[in-house]
Amino acid sequence: MKEVVVLSGKGGTGKTTITAALSRLAAGAVLADCDVDAPNLHLLVHGRRVEEHDFIASRVALLDPERCDRCGLCKKICRFDAVSMGESPSIDALSCEGCDLCARMCPSNAITMVDKVSGRWMVTDTPNGMLFHARLGPGEGNSGKLVNLLKRRARRHAIGSSAPLLLIDGPPGIGCPTIAALSGADIALLVAEPTRSGGVDLERALSLCRQMDVQPVLAINRWDLHPEVAEEMEVFAKREGVPLLGRIPFDEEVYRRASSGLAVEGGAAGRATELLWEGLQAIIRG
Ligand code: SF4
Ligand code: SF4
Repeated sequence: MKEVVVLSGKGGTGKTTITAALSRLAAGAVLADCDVDAPNLHLLVHGRRVEEHDFIASRVALLDPERCDRCGLCKKICRFDAVSMGESPSIDALSCEGCDLCARMCPSNAITMVDKVSGRWMVTDTPNGMLFHARLGPGEGNSGKLVNLLKRRARRHAIGSSAPLLLIDGPPGIGCPTIAALSGADIALLVAEPTRSGGVDLERALSLCRQMDVQPVLAINRWDLHPEVAEEMEVFAKREGVPLLGRIPFDEEVYRRASSGLAVEGGAAGRATELLWEGLQAIIRG
């Protein structure tokens, strides 16, 4: 089983559109949407929800005012200013960092630590393969942990069902969730847009792939919007030894289909994506 992560140095390059189109071509793949802050692969690859779970990554303190004798110790020792001793003592769940100190120190055993639900993760059975996806709650951290969890589940399913490919829609940027998505992957398909900032994003994403020992390959999306910059990216890729697998043209049909919840199929972009898939298969086969 090979693991391919579709990445871009930032959002908005068409990464998810390309992942959805590839998932249609890659029969029998297992899919994972690791963009847990703004997941949208499920909007283009539809199916039937077969599992849904809470994502629990931390705990918060819960104060029982009935047992509290208002000694004030918890307020004194909490370094995150989460305790208020107003009319009824309470702990602000948003400020609590779950350090456990107040629960250990309270002389009246009035504080207990409880699980905090930070998001949901789901499994959807789609015609393109089983899709593992998730949504992190607003303002929640731990996106790297959630990506790890998704990848573990998706890998386990891929191995158990003898799937030849795990296709991952990666998070934008090069932060913690991207590192988690790349961890242990075989190939990173870098989707770049032909702009000056797109070039910088490409360099950063490439550098991360090298650090993590993941083979990078490149696709330039909407290349014909700035052919000169696309050309420069190709020269850069050649110099860096990164295979260019696809140049996908701007195609309004992509946006019409996406706004109707449909992945790319046919048209100029669809044909370019088919060529991209052929190139990717050749790399996968080695
Ligand atoms: S340490 Fe325990 S008893 Fe003291 S104020 Fe806090 S909750 Fe109440
Ligand atoms: S668990 Fe830690 S952060 Fe949370 S209220 Fe208690 S002392 Fe403060």
